[in-house]
Order: sequence, then structure tokens, then C-alpha cells
Amino acid sequence: MKYFSTRNEKLRVSAAEAIATGLAPDGGLFVPESIPTVSGEELRALLSMDYRARAVNIMSRFLDEFTAEELRGIVDAAYGDNFDDPAVAPLRKLDDSTAYLELWHGPTCAFKDMALQILPLLLTASLRKTGEDRGVCILVATSGDTGKAALEGFRDVDGTRIFVFYPDGGVSRIQRLQMVTQAGQNVGVCAVRGNFDDAQTGVKRIFGDADFAKTLSERGWFLSSANSINWGRLLPQIVYYFSAYLDHVKQGGIELGDRLNFCVPTGNFGNILAGYYAKRMGLPVGRFLCASNANNVLTEFLETGVYNKNRPFHTTASPSMDILVSSNLERLLYLLTGEEKTRDYMAKLNAEGRYAVGADTLEKLKETFSAGFCDDPATLDTIGKVFQEHGYLMDTHTAVAAKVLADYRAKTGDRTNTVVVSTASPFKFAADVLRALDQPAADEPLSALAAVGGMPVPKPLSGLDERTVRFPEVAEKADMRAVVDGFLAK
Ligand SMILES: *Cc1c(COP(=O)(O)O)cnc(C)c1O
Repeated sequence: MKYFSTRNEKLRVSAAEAIATGLAPDGGLFVPESIPTVSGEELRALLSMDYRARAVNIMSRFLDEFTAEELRGIVDAAYGDNFDDPAVAPLRKLDDSTAYLELWHGPTCAFKDMALQILPLLLTASLRKTGEDRGVCILVATSGDTGKAALEGFRDVDGTRIFVFYPDGGVSRIQRLQMVTQAGQNVGVCAVRGNFDDAQTGVKRIFGDADFAKTLSERGWFLSSANSINWGRLLPQIVYYFSAYLDHVKQGGIELGDRLNFCVPTGNFGNILAGYYAKRMGLPVGRFLCASNANNVLTEFLETGVYNKNRPFHTTASPSMDILVSSNLERLLYLLTGEEKTRDYMAKLNAEGRYAVGADTLEKLKETFSAGFCDDPATLDTIGKVFQEHGYLMDTHTAVAAKVLADYRAKTGDRTNTVVVSTASPFKFAADVLRALDQPAADEPLSALAAVGGMPVPKPLSGLDERTVRFPEVAEKADMRAVVDGFLAK
């Protein structure tokens, strides 16, 4: 199967090339030339398989250059005892019509692990297939979660190095400790004096530095990114939509063939888009509910057809969804409107920060997507309510989705069985979750939450204070390139 750019179908490459390069040369995103389908019979056969076997089955349909054994090896290495639940992505029933899909049992306790535990293996295999003989250095600017998940994913993967910049004072205490104590022989971390934008701009400048690229190439390195527009990050996410559906059938919540809705806390539109691909492959999904926080640019788009990023940026209790440009939306636009219109919309977004789709496209969007948003007080209120009523503890991102689902049901009366996609462990945002439960501020929020919630602190987050700080450095913006240079000279 070939892949091409969302902005030009003539730009065709292999799956390995799409994963190895990340972004298409015209600035578009790689998409598969066709969407493979899964028949009812094939879906039934997946019922008896575990998560790993389902992953090999679904992913192989998009990766015909990879043998089944090769994929099996990659999947087994990615989803093993680095996950603290043998189901990998367990489905927890809340009530007769609602279940939670927990995507945070991996090494960093957030859903980014589902993709970033496997991307390094897909990427290095792809580089071998494309004949690349240089080593790859992954460069990341992070506002918290992605950096740590990428470090864990690339740690000690042969032929790779990874370097992460984060804004000094701009991430939570836990997030910083997770990164500066990172294990691995091929990793580096450095704070940047400035905010996230400064770190991001600095990294983009390094990527755009042709002289630096040439020097590094002579030394046997090239730079790449691990961000969520890479097809190798999206593809593994399709799997858990199938798996959640099948587990729901196995648990007796629905019959095979019944429709199931998904409510997804959304930022960059990667998670929910993977679900949409699953539906297009034949998974019986009714609707996707796109849940946003106060940064509600997607709510407005899905309701009016106007995407407008010219608006205030809100810092919220669900920081991984504080996003005004949802990059993966481009793939949905391509699927609904084709290359030409997608190119126009993206040009408008670039020039004016705004575009509007036609009435026919808006209608198509509304056939499948509903949207809603909620602010921080409503988010915290929801955490408290659900814990009181069901004894189920959720993080701030998941709570945005829970609230949007409650609003949707109240408004539409739609009682279709729904899976809320749960994207982070409540412990990852312990201080806010404690506040939501009306608990006093604690010096040790993790153990305080463990006591209130009646569950242990996840292993990856416990004992962080006792670990050795390996990367205490803080750099000036102007020195970021020199820092990377020094890292790759080691
Ligand atoms: C990244 C992230 C999201 C948003 O996912 P997208 O794929 O960007 O829409 C939601 N919740 C958490 C905890 C995340 O880390």
C-alpha cells in the first residue's frame, strides 16, 4: 500500500518512507491511498485475540512491506511488561451504557505511550527498509507529557538518540522530575530559559538549519521529530478502538454489530482521528463526540464549519489539550473534501488563521461528529461527582470528556452505549484531582490521592524524589543548537 500527501496525491511514497520522513515534502500529512476494510467475519475472529494479536492484525493491513513476524516482534516489544495491566488498554464498565477505555497503563501514565512505545521500533525498521545508514536523533520541545513519553519510547533503541527541551519553570514538578531523572544511554534533556513557545521555536530553528544538518550528516546523524503528525504515531491508535469495541462485546455490554459511540478528549485531533479511521475500516461506530476544554476551537468548527485560531489561548487544568491548531484535522479534511480543497484550507489557515468549509462538508462532519467543551470548574466538578456516584477516579482530561458526554446525553437523549476514552492516570494530575475531591492541598499529592482513592501510586510515578537527577542543565535560547551539537559529539 502506498501513501500520499493530503495536499498532493501525486506525491506517493511507501509506508516505510512515510514513517521515516514524518511530514510530506509539500507540508502535507501522509495518508494511505485507500482504507482497508475489516469484514464482520474478520471482526468476530478478532474477539478471541489479545491486544497484541489484534494490533498485528489491524496494523498489518496498512503496512504490507512489513512481514507478520516482523510486526509481531515490534508489537510484543512495545506492549509488554512495560504496561502494568496485561490487557494493555483495559475497558472499565461504569454503568449500563458507559465504559472507560484506560489508555494510561504504560510507562509514563498517559495515552501518548500507546503510540510512542511503538513508534521508535516502526521508525528504525522503516529506516532499515529505506536504506538509511545514518543514525537518527529525535529532537523534541515539550510542554510536559510528550517529552517524557518520547524519552521512554526511544530509550536505548539502537541507532537512535533523543534530546528533549522543556521550558524552565513551565512544566509541573512531577513532569520535570520524570524527565531530568530519565534513564538510558542515548538520551538527553535540558531546560530552556523561556516559555514553551521559545523552546518550540528554538527546535524549529534547529530543524531548519541547513548548515547544521550538513555538519551532522557528515558525522553520521540526521534530525527527526516524534510529533503526532507522523503516520507511525496515528496507526497504533486505530488498534485500541477495535479492541475497546471487542472487549465491550466480550463483557456483554453490546452485541457484535451493534453501534457504539466514543467520546474523546481532544487536542491535536490525533486520538479521535484514529477512531474515525477505525469506523471507515468498518468498525460499527455510531458517533464520535469531540470534547474540548476552554480552548474550544474544534467545538466551534464542528458546529459551524468555521475554523478560527484567532482567539485567546487559555491555560487550563487539562494542559495537554491547550491547543489552537489541531494538526491532524488536515487528514479528516482530506478524507471529506480531497486534496485541492485541503490545500486551500491550509493555505488560508496559514495566511489568515481561519478557513470555512462548505455546507455540504459541514453536513458530512455532523453525520459522524458531535462536539462540546467545558471549563475548569465543570471539569473538577465532574471528577468529584463521578467519584462520589461510582467510586471511579479520573484525571482532568478524561473529565472533560465525561462532562461533554453528560451534556450531549441531556441535550439529545441519545442513550447509545458510549466509551469515554481515558487519556491519563488521575495520579498524573494529582493536585487538581485532590482539589476536585475537596481535599486540602497536600505536600505529597501522590500519596494523599492514593489514600483518598484507595489505589496505589503507579510505579513509574512513585519514588521520583529519590531518583538521581541526571540532567540539571538550563540553557539560553541562543545556545540550543550548541547543546544538541555537544550531545551528538559524545
Ligand atoms: C495529548 C493528550 C490529549 C489530546 O490528544 P490529541 O491526540 O492531541 O487530540 C488528551 N489527553 C492527554 C492526557 C494527552 O496527553
